[in-house]
Amino acid sequence: MLFFVAEMVFGRNRYSLRSRLNAALYWLVYIAITVTFFSVFSRLWGSLGIKPLMTLDLNRLFGGGGKWLQVAGWIVMPVISAIIGEFFYYWFHRLQHRSAFLWAFHSEHHALREMSAWNSNHHFTEEIFRVPFVLIPLSLLIQVDVGVVPALVVLIIGLQGQFEHSHTRLNLGPLRYVVADNRFHRIHHSVELHHYDKNFGSFTSFWDIVFGTAHFPARDEWPDTGIDAHDEAKTLSEYLFRPFSKLRGKRAA
Ligand SMILES: [Zn+2]
Ligand SMILES: [Zn+2]
Repeated sequence: MLFFVAEMVFGRNRYSLRSRLNAALYWLVYIAITVTFFSVFSRLWGSLGIKPLMTLDLNRLFGGGGKWLQVAGWIVMPVISAIIGEFFYYWFHRLQHRSAFLWAFHSEHHALREMSAWNSNHHFTEEIFRVPFVLIPLSLLIQVDVGVVPALVVLIIGLQGQFEHSHTRLNLGPLRYVVADNRFHRIHHSVELHHYDKNFGSFTSFWDIVFGTAHFPARDEWPDTGIDAHDEAKTLSEYLFRPFSKLRGKRAA
């Protein structure tokens, strides 16, 4: 809602009501499936009692100093833990663009032509595919101990996920060299050829800088989004099943 208002006031694009209504329906389905899956998965995973290889206690790192250091820690800690966590997401996302199987699903997100904070949904399998590629390796390797902050991490990442798809003129300015903003992520969705395979990071631009895939847009660089192959899903059944029929078509060909 926050970014919805920001888009109304500072928006760059005018998008149709239809794409927003469709997005609302897809979000409902996406959330219902994701919540159901994770309530089962987290119970199963928790019952295995697996401990990660190392623990990074960021709380202790910042907690020992004065009050201001602690407050700074509350801001810095979620950012640091999100950057560490996103290493795995970065490589998963690159794989989504390389593997024909994963692309069949991920391309639904890239099909968004009227992309906004509201209309930014992924295919419902997105979070489920992240389990073997992101969640499991991360929980085997490292536990970032941030004390009271996890809820804040979830909130910040959640907000950022909407913001990076938003077409508001508000952006993060020089902070974009750490946290990916809407102008940075817009390039990843761009229809323009020279933007292909750039800006895979979702929360942070850090790994794109490290691995040479970062493209920081100029002030007026605001490309159209979408892919030639198909339009945004127009019906719920298209949203749910199109990737599967794409794969079936490929096998038959
Ligand atoms: Zn992508
Ligand atoms: Zn996106």
